[in-house]
Amino acid sequence: MVALGLRRLTLLVVVALLVLDEQAADGAPWQFWPPGGDPGCCLSWRVMVEANNAKNWRAVPARCVGYVWAYMAWGQYGRDVSAAADEIAAYAASQAPAGQDGLDAWVMDVDDTCLSNLPYYQAKQFGPYDPAAFKAWASRGICPGIPPMVGLFRTLKAGGFRVFLLTGRDEEALSASTAANLAAAGFAGYDRLIMRSAGYRGQSSVVFKSAVRRRLVEEEGYRIRGNVGDQWSDLQGDYAGDRVFKVPNPMYFVP
Ligand SMILES: [Mg+2]
Repeated sequence: MVALGLRRLTLLVVVALLVLDEQAADGAPWQFWPPGGDPGCCLSWRVMVEANNAKNWRAVPARCVGYVWAYMAWGQYGRDVSAAADEIAAYAASQAPAGQDGLDAWVMDVDDTCLSNLPYYQAKQFGPYDPAAFKAWASRGICPGIPPMVGLFRTLKAGGFRVFLLTGRDEEALSASTAANLAAAGFAGYDRLIMRSAGYRGQSSVVFKSAVRRRLVEEEGYRIRGNVGDQWSDLQGDYAGDRVFKVPNPMYFVP
């Protein structure tokens, strides 16, 4: 009798998993089990994204939503960011201590480099960028800090480097909430938070960030020793830095 019950239960579980797998294959969001669909295909897509071979994509492909959810939330993303932070810290250590003139600097991006927007993108099932909704989320100031990046930030500061946090977030709308969020997430003691001023609204990230870095180097005399971002557009353009480091982000693309 017990054996029969167990057999029925096993059958039920197998059927339930098959149903879930079929849903994931159809692109339905799947939050309770590793991704269905074609994980190998979605891994290829993610590698293309990280290598900057895939450009101007507007949202995670429907077939890969479950895959990206699992990648981001179930440990591999954290391991990847941690490995990147170790590599960056090793390079920074090879350049430390910073010069006595106080002009050796690092640039770090904010969104999904220092602060995580994962809760926001999970809630919208990794759908396309929505400026108003993102602004509402960012203005709450509750983005979690990304732990290996908090550690990296502290390592850079301890090495005597200036650290500039450079973000495309709108200065007028989000400066107070972003500063409070950074402080709460453990980013205390950065040298400057540089946000997108009104004159750069509508400009690409490459144009805006290049202009800021140009000012830092040409007008203020800083040497940008390293630059860390989750988007290639953080790392391209003028005065990108002696070395650039890409941290993973398969959630969205910023031109
Ligand atoms: Mg970013």
